[in-house]
Amino acid sequence: MDGNEARYLQECIATGWISSEGPFVERFEAEMAARVGRRYGVAVTNGSAALEAAVVALGLGPGDEVILPTFTIISCAAAVVRAGATPVVVDCDPVTWNMDVEQVAARITPRTRAIMAVHIYGLPVDMDPLLALAERYGLRVIEDAAEMHGQTYRGRPCGSFGDLSVFSFYPNKHVTTGEGGMILTDDPALAERCRSLRNLCFQPGRRFVHEELGWNLRMSNLQAAVGVAQLERLDQFVARKRRMGRRYTELLADVPGLQLPLPATDYAENIYWVYGVVLQDEVPFDAEEAMARLRRLGVGTRPFFWPMHEQPVFRRMGLFAAERHPVAERLARRGFYLPSGLALTDQQIEQAAQAVRECVR
Ligand SMILES: *Cc1c(COP(=O)(O)O)cnc(C)c1O
Repeated sequence: MDGNEARYLQECIATGWISSEGPFVERFEAEMAARVGRRYGVAVTNGSAALEAAVVALGLGPGDEVILPTFTIISCAAAVVRAGATPVVVDCDPVTWNMDVEQVAARITPRTRAIMAVHIYGLPVDMDPLLALAERYGLRVIEDAAEMHGQTYRGRPCGSFGDLSVFSFYPNKHVTTGEGGMILTDDPALAERCRSLRNLCFQPGRRFVHEELGWNLRMSNLQAAVGVAQLERLDQFVARKRRMGRRYTELLADVPGLQLPLPATDYAENIYWVYGVVLQDEVPFDAEEAMARLRRLGVGTRPFFWPMHEQPVFRRMGLFAAERHPVAERLARRGFYLPSGLALTDQQIEQAAQAVRECVR
């Protein structure tokens, strides 16, 4: 928070513009859109809400199937389920941890209407084959770029793909507004629809007469002011994250039994949103035990995502019955991530890496 955050917040206070009507909101939307090469941005309260609005904006509902990775945050599948549509999940790649695009092709049915591509932890989804599938079958694409501020896929910005893309500005994301999110699109009708859904579907002519139900998902000027200041330094944040990731890799490369994040693929260089590690089969305990050991050594960690097809809440709804996705199941049980925040010092990285070394020995 040591850029222009305080200055812009002070400006909000001094001018009295604190609500969503203030000028920083449109400025943040325009600057995010410009940054990822989109025409429109619609700022909302958080990334989960952005996904919900995106699904509804595309008109997805009962009878429609949406394909997404099982290895992701609940927000993705929840948005599909809440809209009354059916989530269809695919397993992920054991090395990039992103959705397996070949499995997407195998799960397309006459009811499939959309694909939700979710970039995971540091590397993007292999978008070209996914977009080719969408084109071939006439499917809509939602790109969840919540973890990918500043990342590119084959030189094109993450957040520029598909019909709609979403970002989160939660504090652990590369750009934060405390809480916040954004939907981006090139389609003026979709942008308008997202703006309407964000603002209770008030109608321009007859404000309190509603043809549809929306939400109040408006971002405040205070949040947007912080976002504008943060965005000014995104390149620095990304460079720092990459240095942190490379440093962890240097320190951990010779530790037996640990799978580390892939530094790069032919389409992207890892951005290390979080630095994940996976315990290989030779390690006689799982992530839960490793995390407990690290906690005793003074190092905080977080578990990997738990697969959507293993979520009790979805199983009780009768979703994903008897489905198995072994790569995601294994990652959930063997993977966790190390301290990855931008405020981490080089010395703390060394301490965390040393603790990992001791813990798996
Ligand atoms: C953080 C995140 C979200 C949710 O964003 P919130 O702002 O926390 O609601 C959605 N998708 C992915 C991939 C995320 O990492």
